[in-house]
Amino acid sequence: MEFQFGEFGGQFVPPQVAAALQELEEAFLEAIQDPEFDKEFRHYLKHYVGRPSPLYYARNLSEKLGGAKIYLKREDLNHTGAHKINNTVGQILLAKRMGKSKVIAETGAGQHGVATATAAAMFGMDCEIFQGAIDMERQRLNVFRMEMLGAKVTGVTQGTKTLADAVDYAINEWIKRIDDTFYLLGSAVGPHPYPTIVRYFQKVIGEEAKQQIIEQEGRLPDYLVACVGGGSNAIGLFADFLDDEDVRIIGVEAAGKGLETKDHAATLTLGKETVIHGMRTKSVVDDDGNISPVYSISAGLDYPGVGPEHAFLQFTKRATYAAATDKEAVDAFLELSQVEGIIPAIESSHAVAHAIKLAPTLPKDQIILINLSGRGDKDVEAIEHYLK
Ligand SMILES: *Cc1c(COP(=O)(O)O)cnc(C)c1O
Repeated sequence: MEFQFGEFGGQFVPPQVAAALQELEEAFLEAIQDPEFDKEFRHYLKHYVGRPSPLYYARNLSEKLGGAKIYLKREDLNHTGAHKINNTVGQILLAKRMGKSKVIAETGAGQHGVATATAAAMFGMDCEIFQGAIDMERQRLNVFRMEMLGAKVTGVTQGTKTLADAVDYAINEWIKRIDDTFYLLGSAVGPHPYPTIVRYFQKVIGEEAKQQIIEQEGRLPDYLVACVGGGSNAIGLFADFLDDEDVRIIGVEAAGKGLETKDHAATLTLGKETVIHGMRTKSVVDDDGNISPVYSISAGLDYPGVGPEHAFLQFTKRATYAAATDKEAVDAFLELSQVEGIIPAIESSHAVAHAIKLAPTLPKDQIILINLSGRGDKDVEAIEHYLK
């Protein structure tokens, strides 16, 4: 298993955490060798999550833009409305296999908390979610949602009182409860083996998309486009195409109020190498080398680091990373809603925004495949607020 991605990734944690991660890695490696584990995972993906998600040719949008054909991988149609459930179901199955009865998780806006609480409810696991106190206030509806699903939500009052500190808090709690508790990490980030585990459970996105585009077009796409917060939906789409050299791969970060301002979350575009949340990756740092706060209209892209594999793919130039502003994302959100009748998550709208710029520059026989990571029902209020 990849411990590092070039010079990125690794495991920067105290010894007790390293011991817990060792146990996790062994259980994971053993599980993925077991056909029964795979069968169970596939079973829940099909019957509970609702996979395979469709690959939809966005004819209206493609024709309006007048360039490349645009396809949407519809992760928005999954149970709970995003790709996150693929990973939570996979990790809960792993937790059960390890004999754990409780799961804990961090959450920012609450999307991963909801996906974790959902899977925990279904598998009869005790569930506690750590969320920054400020995020709890900003996302009251998701707090209720998690509680309705039977989870306990604990506010984190240290540091910035947001996601960055909720992760540290969750890791600390994990060490105290390691005997019966599984830490369910929400994106392709953190110390080894989490980035590898999350990619493993998310790569079904790209595997399906590859088969579907071959069925519909008889060939591979020319471009893959996905938004990048921690990077799990993006790596889930990209993983199965990394060896297909003719497929260009583009991740899209949040440029917030603009790359020339301080209010963005463009960690790959403007960041430097740092260690954060137990991994070596890229973060935006200030002149003293401290990790700067990040900003995006989209709570899911508002993460101060990024998955180490993306830092590596950027370094090796296998993938390139662009950024879309709040405004571009909101415009794309409205455009896709009005032209295709699909309301995308504001996170996914960053990927759509990039494709909207790219498609008209390409000939009509080219294909862009966008990962539509989630649906936008959760964002309607925020968009209304933004437009006012
Ligand atoms: C959480 C979330 C993201 C960002 O997380 P990644 O790990 O970068 O995929 C993107 N889209 C949606 C819909 C999300 O809920």
